[in-house]
Amino acid sequence: MTSIVDIARQGLGGLLRKEGLSCSCGKRHHTELREVVMQAGALQETPRLVEKYGGSRVFLIADQNTYQVAGQKAAALLGEAGIDHEVFIFADDYVQPTDASLEQVLAKFSGDCDMILGVGSGTINDISKLAAKERGVSYICVATAPSMDGFVSNTSSMVMKGIKVSIESTVPLAVVADLDILVAAPERLLQAGFGDILAKYTSIAEWRISNLITGEYYCEQIAELMRMAVRNCVANVEGLAKREPEAVKYVMESLILSGIAMAFAGFTRPASGVEHYFSHTWDMRYLEFHTPKDFHGIQCGIGTVLTLEVYDQIKKLTPSREKGLSYVESFDLAKWHQFVQEYLGRSGAGLVEQERKERKYDQAAHRQRLEVIVQKWGQILEIIQTELPSVAQVRGYLQAVGAPVSPTEIGISYADARRAFKVSKDIRNKYNASWLLWDLGCLDEVADSLWQDRE
Ligand SMILES: [Zn+2]
Ligand SMILES: [Zn+2]
Repeated sequence: MTSIVDIARQGLGGLLRKEGLSCSCGKRHHTELREVVMQAGALQETPRLVEKYGGSRVFLIADQNTYQVAGQKAAALLGEAGIDHEVFIFADDYVQPTDASLEQVLAKFSGDCDMILGVGSGTINDISKLAAKERGVSYICVATAPSMDGFVSNTSSMVMKGIKVSIESTVPLAVVADLDILVAAPERLLQAGFGDILAKYTSIAEWRISNLITGEYYCEQIAELMRMAVRNCVANVEGLAKREPEAVKYVMESLILSGIAMAFAGFTRPASGVEHYFSHTWDMRYLEFHTPKDFHGIQCGIGTVLTLEVYDQIKKLTPSREKGLSYVESFDLAKWHQFVQEYLGRSGAGLVEQERKERKYDQAAHRQRLEVIVQKWGQILEIIQTELPSVAQVRGYLQAVGAPVSPTEIGISYADARRAFKVSKDIRNKYNASWLLWDLGCLDEVADSLWQDRE
């Protein structure tokens, strides 16, 4: 069996077989993505892809910026090729991924369109994928910036009724990644895409740690795909700073690979760990309290630095059964729930409700995990040692492209980063660094001591 990693080394195409790929983990991995056209001038391929994937009447979605950058040209190309199409352009400058934005699109969508062409990244892609799902039509994405890894995921990150949620949506059949367009993307978006890739260092480490402690499914091939993605990007960081097409291509390729890895694994683990929860927390606080926020990948880059600092503290610990048990015994869950609600507002109330169903704080489950942690501490340390780069390295990578490395650079205090870290265990049912510290009975002492010298 040729390994998935070897196939990926030859390019993304080999990973996109309809029948999937059998893997040494025992699973058959597949994605609904069929094709990625990544090259200078790729936009020209749009009509060919639309026809190949059965679009006879296309509904093109763009915002003011992406229409200028690629949408207008894409529409013209469709016209030249004789493909019927309608164009929807959001009137507002900053489109939000909300139910209201989705409604605007759906209200204009005409029933005889059988394909959506989303022209954009981030928000436009999220809305377009979801509109395709709602209307039961196929979807093709024209990327305008290598800014995040959600291009080919089967979920859209949305804000519905004021709450941040992840909703199942349609995977694009094809992605058009025109390097002429991507290299000209706003600098902040390039930095964001790179930050979302650096996050894979900590996501993979946490996936392995979770696998060890909770027995969660893990695939070494998929993990290796992500390591490869990160290696390719950091090896070209100087080129990225200069917007060299080759370096931008590596970032875009890695972002798509990351989406493929999530599809292969069947969950977000390969691409998202606690570093992402800093970002989710700041997004939730922004929605509720209008506190500062930045692009997803910018926040994930900062979250990665913070997470590496947390793991530097974890490395110094010696697990103790007594300490873990007595901490959890005296843990005041009602008080904690109250804090989550106050800190995150409506989103927090939803998380608390969810926790009451999932019973994440169950003491019997804690005892079992603690026992495993004590017994496997050496292996946990080895994962931390082998998977994680130093804080200085990752700061250096981010600084090389001019991206922020600390929360204060985006208007968020370190005190807030401490709270975000503690709350990170409540965001999804996913074992991460804050759970590990809670299990050890060290969450408060470690979290409260972090970043004190940088207030
Ligand atoms: Zn596998
Ligand atoms: Zn991400």
